[in-house]
Amino acid sequence: MATAIDATTLELTCAPEPWEAVGDSWTPTPDEAAALDAAGVVEALVEQHALRAMIETSRLVLAWRFAHTYDDLPHVAATSEHHHARRVALAGAGAPLVHEHAPLELALHLQMSPQSGRTLMGAALEIAHRLPRLWQRLLDGELEAWRAREVARETLSLAPEIAAAVDDLLAETPRAINQVTADDLILEALLVLDPEEAARREARHDDGRAVFVSPPTGPQAVPGLPGRWAEVHARLEAPDAEALDRTLDAIARILAEGAAADEDDPDSETHQQRRATALGLLADPHAAAALLDGGTRPTPRPATLYVHVDALDLANLLDGGADHGATLEAFGPATLTLASRWLRDRQITLRPVIDLAADPTTDVHDPTETISEHVVLRDRTCIVPDCRRRARSCDQDHIDPYRHPDDGGPPGQTCPSNLQSLCRSHHRLKTHAPARFALLMAQTGSPKRRTALPQSTPRSQSSPSPSRTSDSSWCSYG
Ligand SMILES: [Zn+2]
Repeated sequence: MATAIDATTLELTCAPEPWEAVGDSWTPTPDEAAALDAAGVVEALVEQHALRAMIETSRLVLAWRFAHTYDDLPHVAATSEHHHARRVALAGAGAPLVHEHAPLELALHLQMSPQSGRTLMGAALEIAHRLPRLWQRLLDGELEAWRAREVARETLSLAPEIAAAVDDLLAETPRAINQVTADDLILEALLVLDPEEAARREARHDDGRAVFVSPPTGPQAVPGLPGRWAEVHARLEAPDAEALDRTLDAIARILAEGAAADEDDPDSETHQQRRATALGLLADPHAAAALLDGGTRPTPRPATLYVHVDALDLANLLDGGADHGATLEAFGPATLTLASRWLRDRQITLRPVIDLAADPTTDVHDPTETISEHVVLRDRTCIVPDCRRRARSCDQDHIDPYRHPDDGGPPGQTCPSNLQSLCRSHHRLKTHAPARFALLMAQTGSPKRRTALPQSTPRSQSSPSPSRTSDSSWCSYG
């Protein structure tokens, strides 16, 4: 798919300053760094910064190019795959649609999540096709990629002619664009170009009420935050926020009084920790009201939590051995001590042990509940590297395609060893481009598929046995 931008892209390699400045950039070894004086350090830092900027720009340019050339790849050009492929819009109106698998494949090569791949390719297409002046500044090394991406994020929803006008205005002062100003600069431009859209944006921003819970699903979606924790951010109107603040304080004080009455150590939790518990209690308004009306701490509301614990670890702990922990599905690893605190006062449903070493089979296409649960427990997420979609919401795909017994299919084709968890996007990639999928999986490292739940090692001396089975008992409460 040719565009007018090809010529300028090709000039990237022979662009004038400041690209040339990074020609001699180098990565100092610790010894070389130690030999630098202050001026030398500054010079090296400036060079490194320019080099990084060039790499980020190249990444955008290559993502744009990949979107346009993806269809030419031999496996994509094959009729059968084209027949099934969807075209998806990753950028605003007027930008070309792209093959649905292009961003997935980009993400695999760059070891990023599918969503990050879509965002990167979408930004590249938005800038290249709807913000041509910023694109040119980018190619000339006069605008850093991250600044251009800040603008692109805000222009996605604008009509093409408005995006073009914003482009004209912002290209004059590229260094003024940053994470804080991109939105303001666009609003300023809209006030001149499209006052009605400006008013709508302003109204949306002025009423920015929102509550965000991270992670909504999946382990460790918040960088640096263990999966068993979640963060809640809220933007409330001031009176509501103040009322909530007072309620949290009130419940926290009742919880502290309750701890004192139970002769628990009242200092075992801080006021802030109790406020966090109080916010959780508000998830069950009736129970919170009962507590505020002078009742006792309510029995926690039914919920479902999958705790995967090895029978040996449980026995070991009961024998006074070390706490080797459990895996809380969707929340990650945790000590058994924490797991038992979460389960305290809950109604626990114990479910049968699933032996992950076994390979139960069925002759029909759809897996039985046991087989399905087995695959979820084993895979935990989509098996494609860097894809974090939970196995419980994935498709279960036959590794060797299922053949109906009437067509000569062998018995027992549906079994854990022939099933894998794939999110819908990756399932479509595998179904419509199987050879490419296999090649990509081979190139990007082994799939995340596990043969059993992870084994925490080394075990302490008090472990009953150094050899562990892959048995996994699990329970839920509800
Ligand atoms: Zn996936």
